[in-house]
Amino acid sequence: MLTILQEAVLVSAGCGDPWFQHYQDLAGILDALEGFLVNLKGSAREAVAAVLLQPVLTQLLPAWLEALKAAVQAAAGSSNAVTQGVPTEHDMCLLYITGALHVLLGTGAAAAQLQEAYLSHQQQASRSLEAALRFTLQAQHVLPCSADRLCTLVRAACTIASSKPESISSSSSSSVGPAVGGPAAKQLFSLLVTCLKAAGQDANNSSGGSSSASRFDVAIFLTLAGAGTRQQLCIQVLQACKHMEGSLQLLLQGRCLSQLAGLAMLMQREWATAAELQGCSSEKASAVAVKGCMTIASQQLKDVVAALKVALGVCSASLAAADLQLPGDAAAAAKAIAHLQQQGVALQEQLQPYLSPTKQNAQPQQQQQQQQQQQQLQQQAFQGQQAEQLAQALLQFGHAICLQLPVPYWCCNPACSDVQECSELALVSSKGSRCSGCATARFCSKSCQQQSWKGQHAPVCKRIATTRKGQQQG
Ligand SMILES: [Zn+2]
Ligand SMILES: [Zn+2]
Repeated sequence: MLTILQEAVLVSAGCGDPWFQHYQDLAGILDALEGFLVNLKGSAREAVAAVLLQPVLTQLLPAWLEALKAAVQAAAGSSNAVTQGVPTEHDMCLLYITGALHVLLGTGAAAAQLQEAYLSHQQQASRSLEAALRFTLQAQHVLPCSADRLCTLVRAACTIASSKPESISSSSSSSVGPAVGGPAAKQLFSLLVTCLKAAGQDANNSSGGSSSASRFDVAIFLTLAGAGTRQQLCIQVLQACKHMEGSLQLLLQGRCLSQLAGLAMLMQREWATAAELQGCSSEKASAVAVKGCMTIASQQLKDVVAALKVALGVCSASLAAADLQLPGDAAAAAKAIAHLQQQGVALQEQLQPYLSPTKQNAQPQQQQQQQQQQQQLQQQAFQGQQAEQLAQALLQFGHAICLQLPVPYWCCNPACSDVQECSELALVSSKGSRCSGCATARFCSKSCQQQSWKGQHAPVCKRIATTRKGQQQG
């Protein structure tokens, strides 16, 4: 039975038919596959997963990518207006694939197999995962349990990124200075950037300013749970990027920092909303729920602030690293680094008061003490206008770090969380729009380019462009 399935998967992935028919076959098989896997129990599912994981990761998803490329080209030829938000047919195909992948990745015994698949087919695996991630992000509102899927995919991505550092550095053995470690490293970088976009998406979406009165405490609760997950994702990416080359590491760290600062602000808002609700809720049941939300918000804010400290620390360390070179005029670049380092130190000092160790003695459950504890919790938590300003400053600091280092394979708009436009990998192969001033920075779209010009990319661009002109004349 298993061999038949594996063969079916391989045959469907390998068939050279035109994409349309190809898609039909693939979708049918995968639909059946996902249903089949979901219905299996325990060890049986793990056994199937172990057998099928490799073909799915290394054959099916790459095959789908080819099919999608052909479809996009065909669509471009017929100049169709793309309907946004609604999954198209080939999107549905990936839905099946991510579904199957999700089930496969979620099984414990497949871990060894998974590791093997990553190592033997690192490029395909990371390309596949990136595609799966982007799609899941795009379609998260229509996908069942998309948060779960995202987490699983991000975890898998981080495992790939940290699985075999030697293979990245060995592919760039001849590189000196700021050169980047080969296509594998770019791919992993791209994958991790997509992970970070996953971590930032909801934070950006919900910042759209909903009126607090219309918010219901369950909604707050959900946001908080999601925020907790995304904070974990950031930490994982921070861990995973340790294996990357210096400047790429710094870029990812900078994005993590911005992301976490954004989360801190989001949670502050949720906390404030809950506090407001507490003031006007008369029903006892809902008052308890609101109180619960506030406790969770406080706790999670604490976690995020701790994570912020970690991110700030690694950013500062990377900025101080001897081999870090910013592009453009050397004197101006050195000045820019020194400025960032100063900023980093200042921010660390500002963050310190919120991290003062708290004595969390196990106290008897008496009401007075509980109240005291809660008050303490509120004081120490990252709240109030000062904290919000600090979070804002941290976010800008993360952005500023990213802006200093325009690399050609990510969208240089530090606030970009777009997964519909050009992927980071496509930027690698020279798509997207390139800044004509410095010929270095790339953007996933015109709007990202415009958004991040004034006061962001402009000074760095000028610095690089001046050097280029000097070189041409000299
Ligand atoms: Zn430029
Ligand atoms: Zn962008």
